[in-house]
Amino acid sequence: MAGRGGALARAPRAGVWWDLNTCTIPDGIDPSSIRGCIESAVHKAIGCRSSIVIMYAIGNLEYIPADLLDKIALSGITLIHAPCGGKDLIQFLDQWCGQHPSGYIMVISGDYTMVNPHRYKWMKECTKFCAYPKGYWPTTPPPPSQVFAKEFVWETLVTDNPSCAIEGADEPLCICDICDAVYNTCNEFTTHLKSEQHRETLFGIVPVDFDLATMSEWPRYFCPVCNYPAYDEYNLLLHNASEEHTRKLAEKEPQAEDCQSRKRNPLEDLSYERNKKQAIIS
Ligand SMILES: [Zn+2]
Ligand SMILES: [Zn+2]
Repeated sequence: MAGRGGALARAPRAGVWWDLNTCTIPDGIDPSSIRGCIESAVHKAIGCRSSIVIMYAIGNLEYIPADLLDKIALSGITLIHAPCGGKDLIQFLDQWCGQHPSGYIMVISGDYTMVNPHRYKWMKECTKFCAYPKGYWPTTPPPPSQVFAKEFVWETLVTDNPSCAIEGADEPLCICDICDAVYNTCNEFTTHLKSEQHRETLFGIVPVDFDLATMSEWPRYFCPVCNYPAYDEYNLLLHNASEEHTRKLAEKEPQAEDCQSRKRNPLEDLSYERNKKQAIIS
C-alpha cells in the first residue's frame, strides 16, 4: 500500500479554473458531467490518466441559477464567487503555482483579463492550457512566445471528451471570496450571496467616486433600482441582465427613472463590454 501512496504523491497535479460567466454549459450537456469532460481533456493533454485534477468554477455567481450551481458543486467542483475577473484569478494561480511549481494549470474563459497570455509569462515552471468559448480568440497582441501548451475551444472540449469516471465527490465546497466565507451546502451559499451581509461587504470593496455636491463617496457602478453596487461595468451589466433586476424594474412605476444601462440591450452590452476589455488591455 505504501507504493500506491507514493505513486499518488508523485502523480501530476492540475488546477482548472472555469469562468462560469463567459463559458456556459453547451446545450444538451448535463451539468453534472462537465467535471468528467474537463478531467478527461486534462488527462489527455498531460498524457497521464492518473493525474489529479482539482477544479474551481469561478466568476460572479450571484445570478447563476441555484440548481445549476448545486449540480456543479455536487460533481466535485469547488464554487468560488470571485467577480473581479483577472485580478482574482491571478491570486488563485499565484497560490497554486507556489504549492505546485511544476504542476499544470488550465483556464477556461472568454474574459480577456483572465486569458491575456502576457499575464502568464512569469509562470515559467507550470504547464499551461487554455480554453475559450467558440468564436473568441485572444489573438492580439501575440504572445512573445508560446505561452499555452495547448488551446481548446470550450464547446469542443466538452463534446469531444466524454465524461470519464470520477471518484465520488466530497461534500460541496462553496466559497465567497469577497466575504472570505465558506459553505458546505449550495443552499447556504446562494442564500449568502443574496444576503444583506454580502451586499454590505460588496459596498466596502467596489470602486467609488467622490461626489463634491454631497461631499460623499458613492459606488462608481451602481444600480439605483436594486441599490446594488458592482465591482466594474461588466458586473453591472451582468446584474442588469439578471431576472432579479428585471423583476425589480417591472415593480417600479413605468415613468420611474430607469437604470442607466437599461437603455441598451444588456446581453448586447455584455458582449460589447468583453470586447472593450480586450481592446483596452491590448
Ligand atoms: Zn459574500
Ligand atoms: Zn438592478
